[in-house]
Amino acid sequence: MGCRISSVVPVSKWTEEKVPSPTLKVAPQYIIEAPRPKTTPAAIHISTSKPKPPENTVHQPVKEANPYYRQRTGSVATIIMENRPPSGVSHTTFGSHVYKHRNSGRPFTIDTTRARSNRAVVVMCAERIGIEEVSETREDKRPCDIYWHSVVYPDMNRVVSHPYSRVNKFPGMTELARKISLTHSIHSMQRLFPQEYEFYPKSWFLPAHLKEFEAFGSKQANQQRWYIVKPDEGAQGTGIYLVNHPSQLKDPLQRQLVQEYVADPLLMNDGLKFDFRVYGVIRSINPLSIYVAREGMARFCTEKYSRPNASNFENLYAHLTNYSLNKANDRYVHSTSLHDQIKGSKRLLSTVFHQLESRGLRTKKLWHDIKMILVKTVLAMLPEILLHYEHHFIDKPGPQCFQIIGFDVMIRENGEPILLEVNAAPSLTIDHQLITSADEALYEEAPLKVRSIVDEVIKVPLIRDTLLLVLNLMDQEYSSARESAIHSTTSSQLPDHTQDDLDTLRAKKKPHLSEIFPNRYGAHSFHLLFLDKAVYLFMQFVHLRASINISLGGLKQFVKKCNLTPVISSREIDLKAAEINFYLTGDQSKLAQGLPFHGFLKFLFYVSEKKFPKEPTLLAKMQKLNQFCDASLRHYGVRSARLRRAEVPTTDDDGPVELYMLPLRMRGKRRSRSSASTLPPKPRSDRNNNSNQNNNGLPRIEL
Ligand code: ADP
Repeated sequence: MGCRISSVVPVSKWTEEKVPSPTLKVAPQYIIEAPRPKTTPAAIHISTSKPKPPENTVHQPVKEANPYYRQRTGSVATIIMENRPPSGVSHTTFGSHVYKHRNSGRPFTIDTTRARSNRAVVVMCAERIGIEEVSETREDKRPCDIYWHSVVYPDMNRVVSHPYSRVNKFPGMTELARKISLTHSIHSMQRLFPQEYEFYPKSWFLPAHLKEFEAFGSKQANQQRWYIVKPDEGAQGTGIYLVNHPSQLKDPLQRQLVQEYVADPLLMNDGLKFDFRVYGVIRSINPLSIYVAREGMARFCTEKYSRPNASNFENLYAHLTNYSLNKANDRYVHSTSLHDQIKGSKRLLSTVFHQLESRGLRTKKLWHDIKMILVKTVLAMLPEILLHYEHHFIDKPGPQCFQIIGFDVMIRENGEPILLEVNAAPSLTIDHQLITSADEALYEEAPLKVRSIVDEVIKVPLIRDTLLLVLNLMDQEYSSARESAIHSTTSSQLPDHTQDDLDTLRAKKKPHLSEIFPNRYGAHSFHLLFLDKAVYLFMQFVHLRASINISLGGLKQFVKKCNLTPVISSREIDLKAAEINFYLTGDQSKLAQGLPFHGFLKFLFYVSEKKFPKEPTLLAKMQKLNQFCDASLRHYGVRSARLRRAEVPTTDDDGPVELYMLPLRMRGKRRSRSSASTLPPKPRSDRNNNSNQNNNGLPRIEL
């Protein structure tokens, strides 16, 4: 299905949002003027018309008794001033401090030979903090501090062989973030913690759930419900379409995800649907540490939204927010400056937060809930991240993996955030194609690529802080900024007002990344760190060297060694495994490959229900089953270290615990840390740029 280009609303009729200019300031050298085509393309046209009331019916936010909306007491201006957006300062106000290894004085090194399209921006960020770029074919063959790869290469083990090195990819993450795998992970958590995982739309994976979807869809036929159909491996909106009845599926046997279509998105005054791309960073899994970037992106549709119906459901410019799709529409509004972006098709998250705040939305609550979505989603994916790591680096110390991840979040009309997708390789490029395909004919050469100011303001600090983070330099970077601000206040000869401005900028220099787990939001979500126990059990019965699936034989061993034979017979295991396999893959023949982790988990759910029928919830049944299996395996001599994560108090008495998810790898790491001359052990304060910690061993809650 192609995109329908509607001509209903010309760009010049767009209404302006009544918001102040963003607080971001950009040094002139970073504002890149777009080269002028022979004729100005329509896409660059930015409305200068006076604000007008929206023409069509625009959903007005529901403001009564809703935790996401405030009762207005002050003026709009006061509300905006009171609210601190997630970001507020451009990376261009950063200095360029050159960092070196503390003991040896050697520069840090990065190998970007395999970074492909991200190479230029990563090298630029690395250079600004003194990280030296080295090539994979360098003669000295010394291991690098950081490797930046575009994908997980089959020979990653050989290239990144030193345990002190960091690499920007977790093995298996690309597969785990695919639509169906993500849905499996979230479904498992939904069964255990139903209320905590309501942020993901109801989903069915086909062909396995075709019957369930048909039953649901037929029952709801009178409700005017719509569903969005997405190919499993699709990206950038390709192959997506809407249906309002299962009979409209184009190819029910194709591997795809069907999701309830969230038909009540929050719209801007211009009537356009949008969603946020929020960036998270998994800094490491051993210890587990997750960060969020304070700035993100808002991506807008290019045609006015109204609830799907028979006449508009094919207009993807109104229903999908993907840049790659909407940029082809003449109504796409490119921004060439930070001021322009407040009306652009791609805006800063902080700008949209200002715009929403002015309409009474409690953006602090929204931001809190978005961060919780990030934490909960990573915790749902964690079991398989651990298994892939073990499988990939079996018998090797393994490097420290980290990864920048994109989370696509849309907001409902009532202010509630909904997770749509996780992107394991979010675009980090800071260029955009300035003209639409229709305008390409105007150019003699290839389409023009221009640095996009919005992408630059988001991605350059994201990459730069990620590099600082994994090198344990965040604290140094940001405390030195504060010190230099104080210093300059006393020593400078600048006129008072100039000095004030500079100091404000320097003092405002905040880390772009802040830790959300275990620090900050750990106390809210610690209980969700539950599936690791099932992972440790799984690891006892799977041949990780060969596969991360458990064979039928492995499943039977598990039942036997955990004294569960009175609960489930060998024949029943066969039948249950086949049923689970079909549920997960839609393909009976795949049982020969064994069950993946979430299949094993479904099996555990089933056994726990049989073994502990009196327990009130599935969670309680699973807790009992974990204890039972633990005790049984210890009887067979399985060491307790193999069955639980290690929670290690930090060197600060009042710091949170460090959670080593792969405890058996911990000793090696610790020994290597203390003997490492080039990579010294870091104090906890270096690892956390959040200073709010309490002294009960768990992170403090911050709302
Ligand atoms: P892709 O990986 O192809 O970008 P997404 O799952 O991100 O696929 O979907 C593309 C776009 O479709 C999203 O950016 C969003 O605008 C819209 N979308 C996706 N899922 C839903 C949904 N359940 N309800 C409403 N809109 C959705």
